[in-house]
Amino acid sequence: MTGNDTWTIQRLLNWVTEYLKGKSVDSPRLSAELLLSHVLGLKRIELYTQFNKVVEQEQLAQLHGLVKRAADHEPIAHLTGKREFYSLEFDITKDCLIPRPETELLVERAIEFLRTRTGEQYICDLCTGCGCIAISIAVNFANCKIVATDISDPALEVAERNVIKHGLQNRFKLLKGDLFEPLIPGLGPAKFDLITVNPPYVSEPAFENLPKNVRDFEPKSALTAGPEGLDIIKRIISDAGQFLKPASALMIEIDNDQGQAVRKLLEDTEFFDTITIGKDNAKLDRLAVAFAK
Ligand code: GLN
Repeated sequence: MTGNDTWTIQRLLNWVTEYLKGKSVDSPRLSAELLLSHVLGLKRIELYTQFNKVVEQEQLAQLHGLVKRAADHEPIAHLTGKREFYSLEFDITKDCLIPRPETELLVERAIEFLRTRTGEQYICDLCTGCGCIAISIAVNFANCKIVATDISDPALEVAERNVIKHGLQNRFKLLKGDLFEPLIPGLGPAKFDLITVNPPYVSEPAFENLPKNVRDFEPKSALTAGPEGLDIIKRIISDAGQFLKPASALMIEIDNDQGQAVRKLLEDTEFFDTITIGKDNAKLDRLAVAFAK
């Protein structure tokens, strides 16, 4: 990105895309668009309506720094401080997991379930991280109140920013603690119509094989859960019963090899009457849904 000739948006997009491709960065075109639109303060679509606009020297310098970090596999969401999920924009920092497209499956199922019910719905979202699951549900289903918990203070700060960003303060309570710990069973609205969670579920061996952009940059505590990745899921399943109303639902995102084990854990509680394991777009097991008796 040096030389005397001018850099238009079009030329830069092509150049950055090729550069990131050469460094084996995932989705190089999209990454280039996200970085460029961030630096220029434009929407992605506006890059295409202003293709021939010449980019200033100062912005080129800023882009240069970010492209270099992206080439080292630093996540684009960390470089731009945001990520789109369920067509909504979320603030992101290195303190929370970056929302994944496969997690949209959980949000879809949750909204479908809520629409079959009447009256105000109480939802509990565990391991809320940046709050993307709970916020996406709340934006798309008005008649609900949400309690979201997380063990990490800095993650809860990000969640709080996102709750405010989407104007949901009146319907949210963010609580710090380990899973259900901040809730007292039997006191106040501590029985829910729906419990959602995308817990840490990556096994120790699988963690070592994660791509660099995940393994070296995202919080390990948001990813791993013991030798089989099931440590947190087991605790959630054994405690969930005390917090669920009759005919309510528990929805847990899982890893693609955990379907059978999680089904068995849910069956063994004898608390649920229907259990399904749903597949993501890649046709891999991704979501356990259990309906309480
Ligand atoms: N699916 C994510 C990954 O493999 C992990 C998400 C999680 O642990 N909840 O990167």
